[in-house]
Formats: sequence, structure tokens, C-alpha cells
Amino acid sequence: MRQLSTGDMLREAVKAGTPVGLEAKSVMERGELVSDEIVSALIDAELTAMGGGTGAIFDGYPRTKQQAKSLEEILERHGRRLDHVIELEVNEDALIDRITGRFTCANCGAGYHDRHKLPIVDGVCDKCGSTEFKRRPDDNEETVRMRMEEYRAKTAPILPIYEARGIVSRVDGMARIEEVTAALDAILA
Ligand code: AMP
Repeated sequence: MRQLSTGDMLREAVKAGTPVGLEAKSVMERGELVSDEIVSALIDAELTAMGGGTGAIFDGYPRTKQQAKSLEEILERHGRRLDHVIELEVNEDALIDRITGRFTCANCGAGYHDRHKLPIVDGVCDKCGSTEFKRRPDDNEETVRMRMEEYRAKTAPILPIYEARGIVSRVDGMARIEEVTAALDAILA
């Protein structure tokens, strides 16, 4: 199973300074949504590069009705279909606390948190020993609130499309990490 994250693809484009990255950078810093055309083209290109055989998990896509529509066309062209849509339910205050405190190892990508999961040895990655860490520029409270507003206004309204098809599962994102993992594995099994 491959995780296809439009956020990761956009951050790569920003880092590489491509035309897509140049257009997306300030939009992402504000916590607004990048254009539907850009993100759907990224997903289409990734599925083409993957070929058939391996399943995909779309992470952070689709986020608007137009993207949901494009996804249908893209999947049809690639001979694929959506089996599940998973809604991770998390209380908003907890979400702000989680997002504003998170950071990752700049070398191996291991995830940490200021309040909930510090490295065992201060300043040293548990997994690879690196002393370099990074934070996303959009993980500040003001931007997170805008991201949530965008979610409420543009993303939450697409859930009923999938509910009508009976493919939505809800997972309690407030449960312990192992329980959330087990619930997701059970859905995807
Ligand atoms: P994420 O990594 O999913 O939290 O996304 C980070 C940022 O990238 C978002 O706040 C948007 O600015 C942009 N982004 C990621 N995925 C999409 C998408 N499907 N549609 C529009 N913008 C997106």
C-alpha cells in the first residue's frame, strides 16, 4: 500500500522551487487550500507513475467537491476504485495541541512532540541519532485555525457523497496510538 499525500508532494515542490512550489508556498503558509487543478494533477501523475498492482491511501486528498469529482475521473482512467473513506475524529483543542507541538527528525522523519513525545535523550533522535530536527512552517496556531476553517467549509461537505455510498468509516482519533492503528488496520485488512 502506498501513501499518497498531496501535502508531502507540495512540500517537495516548494523545496525544489518548481513552478507549482512557487505558487503553493504562500497559500500553504496561510493555511488556505492550493488550487484543485494543481493537487489533482499531482495525484494523477503519481498514480500513473505507480502503475497497477499496488493499492493507494490518499492522505489529505480530496479536500473539496471539485477534487472529489476529479478523483472519480482519475480513478476511472486508471481502472481503480475507492474502497474506503476514513474520518479520523479528533476534538479541535486536542488537534491544535498536537499540531502546534509536533516536530520531526530532519534525517529519518521520526515524529516527536514538545509535550507528549520528547526524544529519550534531549536533542538526539531515538531512531537514528541525528541532532537535527524540523518543524512545518504552517504548524503555528494561527495557520492551524485557518486550516480547520478550510476543512469545515470545503472538506467536511464532501463526506455525505461517500456516506451515500456506504463506504465511510469513523475512527476515534482521541484513542491511544496503538488503538487507532489497530482500528485503521481492521478497516484496510
Ligand atoms: P497537509 O500536509 O495535508 O496538512 O497539507 C498542508 C497544506 O498543503 C494545506 O494546508 C494546503 O495548503 C495544502 N494542501 C495539501 N493537500 C491539499 C489538497 N488536497 N487541496 C488543496 N490544498 C492542499
